[in-house]
Amino acid sequence: MSEKRDYYEILEVDKSADAKDLKQAFRSLARRYHPDKNDADDAESRFKEIQEAYAVLSDSDKRQQYDRFGHNPPGGSPFGAGGFSDFNINLDDILGGDFFSSFFGGSRRPANTGNDILLRHSITLEQAFTGVKEQMDIDLPSKCSGCSGTGAKGGKTTTCKACSGQGRVRVRQQVGPFVQDVVRTCDRCSGLGSTAESSCRECSGDGIVVEEQSLKVTIPEGADQGMRLRIRGKGQPGKYGRGQPGDLFIEINLEEHEWFERSERDLIMSLPLGYADLVLGCEFEIPHIDGDKLKITVPKSSNSGDTITINGKGMPDSRGRIRGDVIVLLKLDMPRKFSKSVRKALEDLRQDLLSESDVIVRMKADADDRRRA
Ligand SMILES: [Zn+2]
Ligand SMILES: [Zn+2]
Repeated sequence: MSEKRDYYEILEVDKSADAKDLKQAFRSLARRYHPDKNDADDAESRFKEIQEAYAVLSDSDKRQQYDRFGHNPPGGSPFGAGGFSDFNINLDDILGGDFFSSFFGGSRRPANTGNDILLRHSITLEQAFTGVKEQMDIDLPSKCSGCSGTGAKGGKTTTCKACSGQGRVRVRQQVGPFVQDVVRTCDRCSGLGSTAESSCRECSGDGIVVEEQSLKVTIPEGADQGMRLRIRGKGQPGKYGRGQPGDLFIEINLEEHEWFERSERDLIMSLPLGYADLVLGCEFEIPHIDGDKLKITVPKSSNSGDTITINGKGMPDSRGRIRGDVIVLLKLDMPRKFSKSVRKALEDLRQDLLSESDVIVRMKADADDRRRA
C-alpha cells in the first residue's frame, strides 16, 4: 500500500486550522473532486482521501489522537475494525443542496442538454497566417425528424413505472466511507418520466440520426495548435427531443511546415550553410508564409549556432496586429566528400587562416573571450 498522505496536507490547511477553516477547505475540495463532477482518473481516490481527512480532523478526539501519533498510533488503528465507515457525514449538509442538484439537472446546465462534440481540423501554417474561411461537410448527430427526437414511434409515450413519472429516484448510496441519500436520475426513463410505447424505426429509439451538415467555419488569423472554435448548438441534440443541443468544438491542428517551427508568434528555422558562406557572409531570399520573399542576411564571420532575428516577420496575433519574429539558426553543413581541387584549396586555406597554429594558444584566447562575455 502506498504511503498515506498527511491529513492537513490533503485538506490544504495549517495545523492550527479551526472547525470553520476545515469545513471550508473540505467544501471546496469535495466540490472539486466529487467523482460525478471530475472526470480525472484519480478523482474518486482523491475524494475518499479528502473525506477521510475531514472525518478525522473534524472530530476533536480523533484529531488529538492524529496530532500525537499520525497515521500509526500505538496499539493499532484507533478507528476500529470497520475503519472509516464508522463515520457518517451528511454530505448534503456540508456541501449544500445546490451542490447535488447541479449534478442532476441543476441550473448551470440542464440535464437534457446534448453533449458537446469535438472535431480536429488541420490547417497549414500559411492558412494560420492569413486565417481561413472553410466550408466543412461534417457528419453530425441531428434530431430525428421521424419522431421529433423523442425516440418514440409516432411520438407516443407512457408514464414511467420505475419513478411514477418523476424522472428521479432516491437511493441510499455508499460514497467512500460515508452513507448518503442521493437523488438519482431514473435509469428506466433517463429522467424523462415517460417511456416510449415502441421505438422509432428511423433512429432505433435514440431520437438522433447522423446527417451530413455543411458548416461555414471562420478560422482567425494567427490560429495556433490546440485552439478551439465553438459553434453553438451544433453538438449532440438535446436528449429525447427536449432541452438544448450541445456545442460543436473545432480544435485546430497545425500541419508541420517544411522548415518553419512555430513558437507562439515566432517562427524558428534552421539554415544550413557552407563554410564559405559563414566566413564570408551571404544573402538569401526564400518564399515566406505571407506570400512575400523573406530576405535573410548572414553577416561575415558567423558561427554555426548563431541566430539571426528578423523582426516582425513571424505570425500575427489573433487580432492580426502585432507580428512575431523569424529566428534563423545558422548551421554549418559539413560536406561528406571533397573533390581533389576543393581539398587542395582547403589545405592552402588552413595555412592562411590559422597563422596561430599552436592549439594551446587558441584555447587560451577562446577561454579569455568567454570570461569577458
Ligand atoms: Zn426517430
Ligand atoms: Zn422513470
